[in-house]
Amino acid sequence: MRMVFIGPPGAGKGTQAERLIKKYNMAHLSTGDMLRAARDAKTPVGLKAEEYMSSGALVPDEIIVSIIEERLGQSDCDGGYLLDGFPRTIAQAEALDEMLAKKGTPLDIVLELQVPEEELFTRLAGRGRADDNPDTIRNRLVAYRNQTAPLLEYYGKTGLLKSVNGLGTIDEIFDRVVEEMEKVNK
Ligand code: ADP
Repeated sequence: MRMVFIGPPGAGKGTQAERLIKKYNMAHLSTGDMLRAARDAKTPVGLKAEEYMSSGALVPDEIIVSIIEERLGQSDCDGGYLLDGFPRTIAQAEALDEMLAKKGTPLDIVLELQVPEEELFTRLAGRGRADDNPDTIRNRLVAYRNQTAPLLEYYGKTGLLKSVNGLGTIDEIFDRVVEEMEKVNK
């Protein structure tokens, strides 16, 4: 399965992703994790990314697209992957489409995890990551609304988009996601 996972910060994508990659044998490509690792290793890309991440802004498309392009070329992605946190802008989605078209490996599913904004704020404020302070959280939610939510229309037009209610227990949500995955069944 080649899957894109979309949802606002705090929707629980990471938690569900951990389970999904096991069930469907997918490589887990979390751009947030990749950027945090690059930042902690103080690579040039990581240091540049940190300037954006610390305020809750998105890092520039060209940085993230080149990271993903390199990562998708690694052999563990041949059997399928879950993209978690990418694409996050229309430009990133277009770049991804182009990459995959060249390889002849289109996406199988785009899954949206839906959670209301009030709930997101509460969850994020209780989590305690370095970029989980109130101002940064607000910026990340705004970035989602303005830059990432337009992807729902973009993927809606392709027929790949499935939306799942992200409120409930971890097991309940997982079951809902799996139900959609099984309809694709690759
Ligand atoms: P969240 O929990 O806010 O969804 P992530 O762990 O996915 O966060 O990402 C953390 C930060 O990394 C984002 O706020 C953003 O600055 C940066 N980032 C991650 N993925 C992308 C992307 N695809 N494009 C631009 N910036 C990104």
